[in-house]
Amino acid sequence: MEKVKNLIVGCGLSGMVLAERLAAKKKETVLVVDRRPHIGGNIYDYKDESGVTVHKYGPHVFHTNDKKVWDYLSKFTDWHYFMYRVKAVIDGREVNIPFNLDSLYKVFPAHLAGRLEEKLVGKFGFNKKVPILDLRLANDEDLRFLAQYVYEKVFLGYTAKQWGVKPEDLDPSVSGRVPVYTGRDDRYFQDKYQAIPAGGYTKMARIMLADPRIKVKLDTDFGEIRNQVRYERLFYTGPIDEFFDFELGELPYRSLNIRFKRFERACYQSGPQINFPENYDFTRSVEYKYYLDEQAAQTVVSEEYPEPYVTGVNERYYPVPEKKNHELYGRYRQKAAGLKNVYFAGRLGDYKYYNMDETVKRALELFEEIK
Ligand code: FAD
Ligand code: UDP
Repeated sequence: MEKVKNLIVGCGLSGMVLAERLAAKKKETVLVVDRRPHIGGNIYDYKDESGVTVHKYGPHVFHTNDKKVWDYLSKFTDWHYFMYRVKAVIDGREVNIPFNLDSLYKVFPAHLAGRLEEKLVGKFGFNKKVPILDLRLANDEDLRFLAQYVYEKVFLGYTAKQWGVKPEDLDPSVSGRVPVYTGRDDRYFQDKYQAIPAGGYTKMARIMLADPRIKVKLDTDFGEIRNQVRYERLFYTGPIDEFFDFELGELPYRSLNIRFKRFERACYQSGPQINFPENYDFTRSVEYKYYLDEQAAQTVVSEEYPEPYVTGVNERYYPVPEKKNHELYGRYRQKAAGLKNVYFAGRLGDYKYYNMDETVKRALELFEEIK
């Protein structure tokens, strides 16, 4: 029987941070297993035959205000600085998302936009982020009109496609990720650090795993090896319900069918991401050469068709932030707390809609805890 100090299930960002820390700081041996054929989990990218770096599991832009997380990842990569800018097609026009003061002038006649700008800034202040669900509570007639417009044109259709429900049926933090912005900042994120690993995410992942104390086994499910490996600690970054054989029920996820297209031309769309709240059955169209500013004769675009997660059919992409799911997760969490030397982390292990920086922060904190 193989013996290892630490077994890590999942070679995504969570598992890689834990492996790297255990090897580098504690000088311990680590075995990382992943059932996928590659490292990196959902941040995996690769060079398409056009020469463009493509994100297999959808567009990933790193952003954080956390200097500790930024400094940590900076040990494994140089950065291509990149401020993300997203547009949505609303009534046929490409409009800044988050919807901001400039968006007002794109969709409304100037006199109406001017009045709405004055009211918005008067009520919420300049350069503030206002979740759409909060804006809908405004008691001013003009602001209510604006809220209804943005709700219907930006959120309703997109959220129906993405989640199959209305924005108000999800935890407010979901639509709150893309608030109405009472300023002219047209970036998707306002974080201090925003960038993409200059050599791609997979290269960063390879460097994180370079310590000879770390062994990685791909195409390997935890279930296959759990009785063949002796370990002192287990770090599980797979789905927590699956760990317990779904005995309390299944935690739902949303999945994506991401369709890639290659075009024989230098450029396809006006920017890296165009959202389609109203048109088509996909939510967004992403053109990858913008991310690392790559030059190529061809271009690669993906369209995301959301669908429910079904075991054996597609992948778990998004935990579904609804009350009943939090409650079920809480019950699994209680069972997990009863286990010795078994630690759960990550988007699947914690059933949380973590961005990459939150994923890294959580793994670093977990490492500190076990010290
Ligand atoms: P994962 O990457 O899911 O890794 C878990 C790994 O565990 C998987 O590789 C899986 O195969 C493996 N596994 C599971 N069960 C088992 C088992 N039983 N045996 C063996 N292996 C197993 N974040 C940002 O900050 N910016 C973005 O722009 C951004 N865009 C995103 C876009 C999309 C479409 C998605 C889905 C996520 C996005 N994220 C973004 C979030 C980011 O992907 C996550 O924060 C991060 O990848 C989570 O890492 P993880 O290791 O927790 O999970
Ligand atoms: N959203 C929307 N319209 C948009 C952009 C976002 O309705 O044009 C809502 C939608 O519910 C989405 C959520 O805001 O799932 C979060 O968007 P984000 O871009 O952060 O999603 P992710 O990149 O994580 O898929």
